[in-house]
Amino acid sequence: MNQVLVLNSGSSSIKYQLIDMDDRTRLAVGIIERIGEASGSVADHAAGMEVVLAELEGKLDRAQLAAVGHRVVHGGDRFRGPTLVDDEVCDTISKLIPLAPLHNPANLTLIEAARAAFPDTPQVAVFDTAFHQTLPEHAYTYAVPQSWREDLGVRRYGFHGTSHQYVSRRAAAMLGRRPEEVNMIVLHLGNGASVCAIREGKSIDTSMGMTPLEGLIMGTRSGDLDPAVSAYIARQTGRTAEEIDLTLNKESGLLALAGSNDLRDIDAAAAKGNEPARLALDAYCYRIRKYIGAYLAALGRVDALAFTAGVGENSATVRAGALAGLDHLGIAVSPKRNAQHSKEERYISPYWAETAVLVVPTDEEIEIADQALEVLGRAG
Ligand code: AMP
Repeated sequence: MNQVLVLNSGSSSIKYQLIDMDDRTRLAVGIIERIGEASGSVADHAAGMEVVLAELEGKLDRAQLAAVGHRVVHGGDRFRGPTLVDDEVCDTISKLIPLAPLHNPANLTLIEAARAAFPDTPQVAVFDTAFHQTLPEHAYTYAVPQSWREDLGVRRYGFHGTSHQYVSRRAAAMLGRRPEEVNMIVLHLGNGASVCAIREGKSIDTSMGMTPLEGLIMGTRSGDLDPAVSAYIARQTGRTAEEIDLTLNKESGLLALAGSNDLRDIDAAAAKGNEPARLALDAYCYRIRKYIGAYLAALGRVDALAFTAGVGENSATVRAGALAGLDHLGIAVSPKRNAQHSKEERYISPYWAETAVLVVPTDEEIEIADQALEVLGRAG
């Protein structure tokens, strides 16, 4: 009995993987998309779970299932690591809904559905925020009134924790060191994007904040912005807080600058001389470079930079652009290594560079499965 079912639900999707942890093979992989959207055929996450169960029919042997691992987006300051699910844990996740109004309800629906479908199998919640619970107080504190901080939970939490943790461990292994011996900066550049400063295996700062909106320019999120912009737009246009929040999360970022949230389109358009695409690319890379500078200062010594996720693993343009002009700090990409396409973990820094620059394909599902078994006291 050494299989784990991993369920990863977004606000309008469910991704699942059934993994045999003995040889880490995927026995089933699937995605249900456009949940609750007019163009989709699945009304809500509960119906989505029915589809997942139907797709697993004949592939999943209950007797072999050791755990169900759930990705949960927001664990607030309540969850510092993977947690065995019981009624109280569900209740706490539910209390955190105001901090993640689109994601936590979906995650919770899936947990409840999986508990009903597999009543005899332990369910483990793995939180996107947990890895960042090691942030020191001075890094997670926003300078806002005490009542906002203490009564309303306004502080930096950080996200993509599962990915940052997985990639940092793999990167340490590539350097032939233990995670506790290495300082690094992980750049998770997908449709959502965040940077993480890791000292001796622990997250000490990260670019996403109370919500995933802060930090880098993303596919459809603005990232950093003067907080006064929201009030200004409200006054000038009469838009509600809800509408502005939606615009900054879903209609901003690369999409707003270049008309596409896909780096492939933007890269191709910029190469043909399209001005908005060139600006989008320049602004995107510049923002990353600023965070690298900030985290070099926060960390002092940095042994490695690791690129991951859709853009980080695939876009040579972004990797080179983000690190442009950092040679004097011992950070650079080798043009030849950077240009090579590969699905493998690899070095892209030149021989002379003091800091290793790595590409590490992320694997949140295997990390969730490993952490689920870890909670149950079994080796993955
Ligand atoms: P993720 O959220 O990690 O799945 O990343 C998705 C994003 O990765 C897409 O929106 C694309 O912008 C980007 N991406 C995927 N493949 C490539 C590629 N070959 N070159 C550049 N960007 C890519």
